Amino acid sequence: MKDLPITDNHIHVDPVNGDGPLEVAKKFQKAGGTVMIIPNKPTWTLGESYNLQEAMGEVIKYVNEINEKVDVKAYAVVGAHPAELSRLIQGGVSLEKSEEMMKDALQGAQKLVMEGEAIAIGEIGRPHYDVSPEEMGIHNRLMLYAMELARDSDCAVQLHTESSGEKQFKEFAEMAEKAGISKHRVVKHFSGPFVLDDENHGLTPSLIATKSVIKQGLKKGTHFLMETDYLDMKSRPGAVLGPKTVPRRTKGMIQNGILTVEDAYKIHLENVERVYGIDLFL
Ligand SMILES: [Zn+2]
Repeated sequence: MKDLPITDNHIHVDPVNGDGPLEVAKKFQKAGGTVMIIPNKPTWTLGESYNLQEAMGEVIKYVNEINEKVDVKAYAVVGAHPAELSRLIQGGVSLEKSEEMMKDALQGAQKLVMEGEAIAIGEIGRPHYDVSPEEMGIHNRLMLYAMELARDSDCAVQLHTESSGEKQFKEFAEMAEKAGISKHRVVKHFSGPFVLDDENHGLTPSLIATKSVIKQGLKKGTHFLMETDYLDMKSRPGAVLGPKTVPRRTKGMIQNGILTVEDAYKIHLENVERVYGIDLFL
């Protein structure tokens, strides 16, 4: 199983609050991981006075460091987390100005994708906590806008949203249709086992790699990605799942006969290449 591709579709690295890019990448690699897809962390994790564009710039630096020094392939995903909008509004920035700033950031993200520095726009979306109807309206407009930017630059989008089932997937699929982006390029990060077409409505679910979620997912097929949503925060060790989880889970399930090598290639290589339009050269 030495050459098995193993992709973590949503793993963070944070040198300010956690172990940082090289340590996380080494742990992932030692466990058998080969590809890390790394969305930028929000501005406030970097310290005071970082802006949205700078937060995206940081993850590109981390990814380059990993690619230079560790034997895994790392890719950046850049965007403005929905909580950034909430923080702007709570900080006294007007609704209009906040929306404008978020749109600017998303344009910046698209630019980084077009320059080849990142492979997707994300994580973007809407909050998992309650907000005013006015604020929710902005989140929804920004989601649609990000999908339009992704359509224009021919890239994928990673969604962060409230916990979602068939109903929400349907709503996001309708947004994708409106934006004119291929639905499979809209990735629902932190997904449950919504692997069937009539559960995900054509979007790509990125399954949180717990044993039960992956097992349930595999019973329905292989149309999914796997992720840990590792936060790399010393104050929350191993959250959401540790950086070794995807490689260990994948190999363990192959050993137990739950997953075939062929299906592992679908999940970790073919689906990843198709969603992001990249060539993993494995
Ligand atoms: Zn995340």
